[in-house]
Amino acid sequence: MSEVQLTIDGQKVVAQSGQTILEAAQAAGIDIPTLCHHPALTAWGACRMCLVEVKGVRGLQASCTSPVADGMEVQTESDAAVEVRKFVLELLFAERNHYCMFCQMSGDCELQDMAYRYGLDHFTYPRPYDKLPLDASRKYFIMDHNRCILCMRCVRACSEIAANHTLNVRERGSKSMIMADLNVPFGDSTCVECGSCLQVCPTGALIDARSAYGGREKDVTHTETTCMQCSIGCTLDVVTRYNRLLRVDGVWDSEPSGGLLCVDGRFKPLYDNRKRVTAPMVRRDGKLVESGWDETLGIVAEQLKSGTSQGLATCATTNETLDTFTKLFSKVDGEAGLLEPVSPALGYGTAAKLSDILDADLIVVAGAQPLDYQRVVGYFIHRAGGNGAQIAVITDSENKLSERADMTVSYGDTDRVTRAAADAEKVVLVYSVGLKSKVQAAFRELGDKLTYLALSPGRNQKGATAGGLRTAEPNGAATQYFLMGEQAEDPALLEKLNGAFTVVQASYVSPLVEGADVVLPAPVWYERAGHMTNIEGDVKVVNQVLPMPEGVRDDAVVLAALIDLLQ
Ligand code: SF4
Ligand code: SF4
Ligand code: SF4
Repeated sequence: MSEVQLTIDGQKVVAQSGQTILEAAQAAGIDIPTLCHHPALTAWGACRMCLVEVKGVRGLQASCTSPVADGMEVQTESDAAVEVRKFVLELLFAERNHYCMFCQMSGDCELQDMAYRYGLDHFTYPRPYDKLPLDASRKYFIMDHNRCILCMRCVRACSEIAANHTLNVRERGSKSMIMADLNVPFGDSTCVECGSCLQVCPTGALIDARSAYGGREKDVTHTETTCMQCSIGCTLDVVTRYNRLLRVDGVWDSEPSGGLLCVDGRFKPLYDNRKRVTAPMVRRDGKLVESGWDETLGIVAEQLKSGTSQGLATCATTNETLDTFTKLFSKVDGEAGLLEPVSPALGYGTAAKLSDILDADLIVVAGAQPLDYQRVVGYFIHRAGGNGAQIAVITDSENKLSERADMTVSYGDTDRVTRAAADAEKVVLVYSVGLKSKVQAAFRELGDKLTYLALSPGRNQKGATAGGLRTAEPNGAATQYFLMGEQAEDPALLEKLNGAFTVVQASYVSPLVEGADVVLPAPVWYERAGHMTNIEGDVKVVNQVLPMPEGVRDDAVVLAALIDLLQ
């Protein structure tokens, strides 16, 4: 890249060759209005809002698609550019129902902002638009065609970010409508509810069912944190108001997923209606009854001092909590373990970044089902497939990735994949706990061209194993068990505890909690603060989004208090 010198609105600007006029202007702090443009999407050049005048060039130019050139002189708010923008806006407001005062986006809508910016204080043209349908067939968000300006951001997001290709346009001209698949209700479509389209929509056409009318941008609080619904650790922007979760957005320029989220991170946790554990409880006369923190911790500490203990954790918590858990069991006669299985170490190759999937020419998926459990990895693989990479799935059972894979083979046919790998230049092996030693051995020969991404069912598995925790089952010999974690809710676990004294530290009421001798309330994902180690091995910050309910204490603090009582 070389430097390019140009003038924008009389200001000398130094840009890089290959940049667009819009990019150069933005870098120089000059605001050119846009509607169809979105920084996470490829430039489209369709809405005509970003038209600028370039000296010596006939006609106005779309600054989002026009490259900079040395000596260029650009006027972003010339009379001609402003006149066209006003005309475009007048047409957009005439085409569909944009009575802003009734729209949930009013105050935060990019189209409305544009109307204010260019002084549109009345409707210029008649508005003979039809009343268009509203599609509420999806659980988490709604499509109101009446507010759609056909900017195609949603269509591009679905193709470019989620690589799902659910959305498209039907009909032509003023009859154009966004459609899902071959015009089926959105709820019956191939949509995977990643919410990328919802997040990029500039108007009130795509409506988040939970946060709509819940507060304008000026009323809400944003907290950046790390998703802990799976091991990938995507960066989240959690939107709250009045101590209530409103919405979860992706953060476009963040690691590891670049803003792409999945339904498990964006939507599902906001609809979790399980009953919380909000006070310590101790079993008395066969019943669990509420008890003070001091008394309850005293009982647990005394118990830990006698007999043998086993601590079993699920790793849906912070590194700090997992480390304190390990430390606690180093102080007593007992051991600590992890309830979830962990992917085997490959023993060769280099760990990949999630983005390495996009550069590979062959992605091999073995013993893993990312589209079910680490969905963003699955979407990245789809994206790579769309860019021309080959996808090979090695499995003896069903795998959703097979639908778009170039080959799906059984373990007995692994040779077919290793032959393809020998011809490839960059191979990423994506595997999980189902990896078989035959595949592990077969890929050893690939040397430097192989990188791997080890997926594990545990959410903060890397944090847990780095702290020394290894997979374990109830050992049957302990006189007391201490089960920790939001997910330690498997009722079958209770049977394996042989009636031994059981302490459960959990966030939600479950059969395990109901069968325990002592219950310690724990925070949920948005109440925790600390760190987690994501799939790439990066230690990411987990910020507390909302305060814990009264009666709940941070799990690391509780474990540290127990350590103190053991001294
Ligand atoms: S639904 Fe939103 S993002 Fe999609 S075309 Fe309409 S206005 Fe644009
Ligand atoms: S939610 Fe995701 S998959 Fe569904 S239509 Fe929107 S971008 Fe496509
Ligand atoms: S892929 Fe995992 S980390 Fe990313 S949003 Fe989904 S659940 Fe959260």
